[in-house]
Amino acid sequence: MAQSVQVGGDTIFGKIIRKEIPCELLYEDDKCIAFNDIQPQAPTHFLVVPKKPIAQLSKAEDSDAELLGHLMIVAKKCAVEMGLTNGYRLILNEGKEGGQSVYHMHLHVCGGRQMLWPPG
Ligand code: AMP
Repeated sequence: MAQSVQVGGDTIFGKIIRKEIPCELLYEDDKCIAFNDIQPQAPTHFLVVPKKPIAQLSKAEDSDAELLGHLMIVAKKCAVEMGLTNGYRLILNEGKEGGQSVYHMHLHVCGGRQMLWPPG
């Protein structure tokens, strides 16, 4: 039986998921969508966003474990598609001190240059 998901939330990402505003789409399935970040912080910078509108990681439930794993699998497949053969960084900003600005949780995938540590 197909998994039922809440499609979109009341954020800019909900509008992208519902196709109300455009994006540079890289990947989509019934559970998530991946698209280029509008303000890239690296030569390649895309986002993987669940269609279920989980506001932030801290609001995820135990039952979201499979979905969260799926986001990482999609991230690594898209990274291959984007030619990130020398590595990349996955980022998840959580809440105010984590620097989250869009409250529809998402993974950032950044690559195409040497990433620095510690991050800012
Ligand atoms: P965060 O600060 O972790 O919540 O990340 C939000 C990200 O969404 C930022 O990197 C923004 O540049 C990106 N962003 C905001 N609006 C759009 C949009 N319309 N299309 C693509 N990326 C966006």
